[in-house]
Amino acid sequence: MQELDDVKQFLPGDAEVSDIRFEGSDIVIYTDSKDFFLDNSNTVKRIVSELKKRVEVRPSSKLFSEPERAEEKLEDVISDEAKLEELIFQPSLGKVIIRAEKPGAVIGQNGQGLEEIKEEVLWSPQVERVPSISSKVVDRARELTVEDPEFRKDFLHEVGEKIRLEKSTEDQWVRLSSLGGFRQVGRSCLLLQTEESNILMDCGINPSAESGSTDNFPYLNAPELDLRDLDAVILGHAHMDHSGMIPYLYKMGYDGPLYCTKPTRDLMIMNTLDYIGIAHSEGAEAPYDSSAIKQAVKRTITPDLGEVTDITPDVRLTLKNAGHILGSALVHLHVGEGLHNVLYTGDYNYDESEMLRPADTNFQRVETMITESTYGGRDDKQQPREEAQKKFLSKMKQTLNKGGKVIVPVFAIGRSQEILGMLADELDRDYFDYPVYMDGMINDANALHTAYPEFLSKKVQKKIMKEEDSPFLKEQLHAIGSHNERKEAMDSGPAVILTTSGMVTGGPVMSYLENLASDPDNSMIFVGYQAEGTLGRKIQNGRSPIEVNGKTVEVNMDVETVSGFSAHSDRQQIINFCRNLRSSPNRVLTNHGEEKKCFQLASTLHKSLHIDTEAPQNLEVTRLN
Ligand SMILES: [Zn+2]
Repeated sequence: MQELDDVKQFLPGDAEVSDIRFEGSDIVIYTDSKDFFLDNSNTVKRIVSELKKRVEVRPSSKLFSEPERAEEKLEDVISDEAKLEELIFQPSLGKVIIRAEKPGAVIGQNGQGLEEIKEEVLWSPQVERVPSISSKVVDRARELTVEDPEFRKDFLHEVGEKIRLEKSTEDQWVRLSSLGGFRQVGRSCLLLQTEESNILMDCGINPSAESGSTDNFPYLNAPELDLRDLDAVILGHAHMDHSGMIPYLYKMGYDGPLYCTKPTRDLMIMNTLDYIGIAHSEGAEAPYDSSAIKQAVKRTITPDLGEVTDITPDVRLTLKNAGHILGSALVHLHVGEGLHNVLYTGDYNYDESEMLRPADTNFQRVETMITESTYGGRDDKQQPREEAQKKFLSKMKQTLNKGGKVIVPVFAIGRSQEILGMLADELDRDYFDYPVYMDGMINDANALHTAYPEFLSKKVQKKIMKEEDSPFLKEQLHAIGSHNERKEAMDSGPAVILTTSGMVTGGPVMSYLENLASDPDNSMIFVGYQAEGTLGRKIQNGRSPIEVNGKTVEVNMDVETVSGFSAHSDRQQIINFCRNLRSSPNRVLTNHGEEKKCFQLASTLHKSLHIDTEAPQNLEVTRLN
């Protein structure tokens, strides 16, 4: 390939290069020379500035020491302060993955620690943070991410070759097919096509559709989608209505790359494995099994936020913080050389939250924006966060003072951490002498938050780094892992119980309802959206008695709803986001909202920004340029 030949021109005579490979959009040079491996920064700088490609130099197998010997040395070189947990050697890539509780202590000031490691063992170090909470689910997810490095090496090279194929310059067009999640919430899926490229963004399930109904999944049978021609899949965030069908694409024959952030990859593994587990426990069949998830993970490429990555001959991808859940990203695609720029927001929050920074508006150019409309309706105005907190805490205290239990139904990812973050300050106060139980996958999601502090708000990031302050490590917090522990929690005195599922449609919350709903001393506080038809919505509307686990239960507990903890932007925040974008869009398409809200948001944005807006329906195709 031309580009690899171009790289050769920049290499010094004594570089002793054994191989040059693509790694997706990047280039990796393998060398037999110790000197070149340890000192190549000038060469790399020149290649980066001339070819505009990221380059890394790694040792060939001739160079690096035996893993057993390297392990001994590394344990010596890496300070105890780093709390080294695991070393994973990947000889085919010349890489050693160093998993430690304190990566900073491995890396050292100005990367001094990494330099020392390279000198000592002649391996390329890659440092990962170990979660400060143990979780089997997270361990399993992270195991998958380092499986089969030989396969990955070949796969990433092939991806690199495809990205660099000659592009035709004849007919330049960009079009977007809405395959799911338009004028509805659920099964988000968009196909972006150009003369050169077929790119899918998100591929989710529809959690509110009846099981077995055709509304469950996106329109993957649309005539313009052929999985064999698909070049790339991009996942904005790990909620199931965006990620749930990604493994299915691999089951059906797609074998190309999946682009997302690292936390999104890990959360997707966690969610999809759980989805399969639940389906089995209910005697139903999931649309794929764990081997499809493995296939996806092996092909996942995880750019950093803000990093520009070529993904096809004519499309460049940049992911930026979306502020919605851990790892969530706004997807920016630059098509052609300045032909068209698309911003697909996915779910985003333009408000400061406890855990996350607000969505990033720093995009150099945006011609078409596709925005979610979950709370884009005319009357969607969120309660300010401070008011929400006050209301929540006052209800909680009232119940605890009566000696009752507070049940908070939450989704495992997102809202539960928001609530924990808010409770963290309270847990330090004298009055709070009560246990906080977490049931469902909340603790596993917490663990992943502690592994990626760089994706969190500055405030929480600092707290996690100073472990004694971490909101996830307070001594009052108890993760429930068994039936017996759940029973103990229910038999204990006053307590706060955070439990899944968030809309009371199944999961451990059902046991708590069955045993605690009839006691007027207890309370249930809703902090998230309860969809039409869910048991959560019924309880919220005052229904009593209710059917739980085949029993009739009187609802005598207090029921309270607190809005204002949303992970989505409300109408005004969406308008502000559009206004504050560094480059304002010429056209906005709305999706991910009830039909009425998609239309209302389109009309609002048209009036306030004086731009073209549309609310396409599913299966509509829109030409963007
Ligand atoms: Zn979401």
